[in-house]
Amino acid sequence: MYLDVSDLHVTYPGRTEAAVQGVSLGLRAGDIGVLIGPSGCGKTTLLRSVAGLERSSAGTIHLAKQLVSGQGVHTPPEARRIGMVFQDYALFPHMTVANNVGFGLAHLKGSAKTARVHEVLELVGLAGSQDRYPHELSGGQQQRVALARALAPQPQLLLLDEPFSNLDVDLRERLAHEVRLILKAANITALLVTHDQLEAFAIGDRIGVMNHGHLHQWDDAYTLYHRPSTRFVADFIGHGVFAPATLTQSGGQTVLSTPLGVLQDIEECPLPSAYAQGECDVLLRADDIVHDDHAPVQAQIMRKSFRGSEFLYTLQLKSGQTVMAHVPSHHDHKLGEWIGIRPEVDHVVTFPRST
Ligand code: ADP
Repeated sequence: MYLDVSDLHVTYPGRTEAAVQGVSLGLRAGDIGVLIGPSGCGKTTLLRSVAGLERSSAGTIHLAKQLVSGQGVHTPPEARRIGMVFQDYALFPHMTVANNVGFGLAHLKGSAKTARVHEVLELVGLAGSQDRYPHELSGGQQQRVALARALAPQPQLLLLDEPFSNLDVDLRERLAHEVRLILKAANITALLVTHDQLEAFAIGDRIGVMNHGHLHQWDDAYTLYHRPSTRFVADFIGHGVFAPATLTQSGGQTVLSTPLGVLQDIEECPLPSAYAQGECDVLLRADDIVHDDHAPVQAQIMRKSFRGSEFLYTLQLKSGQTVMAHVPSHHDHKLGEWIGIRPEVDHVVTFPRST
């Protein structure tokens, strides 16, 4: 692994609970990793310890095969050759774009410096903007200048802390796609922190979900969504509910009884013996539930939110169990109406029954 974090712990002075607790993750060269999780879960602390801005209390960090943290080593931030982009990208307002981007290039002189500045401005799609001032640029353009400034000295690793959170929601996802293309074109390894999962999905090759200092899962977006390894991840990513279910063996085959009927095609599930009496909770995502007028199971619409191409319906079964469903938005049913639903679950995910 190009960036290798192993069993990292970070404890702030005067705090009993570590902000980062036993986190391990790896990034291959050129990969983009993203850390998501609720506020206070330790994302920024982890990022800052990779940068060398916080000292770890245990564990190691290797960057490009060099030990930079742990086992008595603490390489100072400036010696790690890491570029950083922050939320408040703090361009120097009185400096031109070229001078902002060239700020970290003191080792280059004259035409070599100018050439590098032009090269990175072109990379971020701002060729020709070198003589402009930050206030003459849009928020998205300013953020790209900040990215160019961080990339200019050819860092070994780029760290980005909530880089889009000052921007409009609409702009954010678009910029996340653009930044992904820029980072890939620059062939740089990057680790980014966000609290926005759409942003994480748009940009990351690997996504890590953190809670209370623990990294619950470190996977690609597809696996994270379809095979969440903990209840927390299942709950944090996407829309869905947990419903009580029972795994049983029937005619040599394992089946899962759920409030929406029996699910049979479940080879990814554990055996019934994994849970006492096979009793577990099944994850039912909004896109696992299909509206079907002919389905035997009826559910009442308790809430609905319009999302353009679809509605997100919150539904209640006769038993009181709540489920959610994404339904194409031309099926505009009224609140209180009963509609037919059936499960269409490609990936059946179960967890121990919560009490
Ligand atoms: P996140 O980036 O996920 O919001 P942080 O890494 O900022 O989380 O914070 C993790 C935990 O560490 C929180 O409980 C926070 O209060 C605590 N913390 C963060 N910075 C400091 C600090 N400088 N001193 C003491 N505690 C801190």
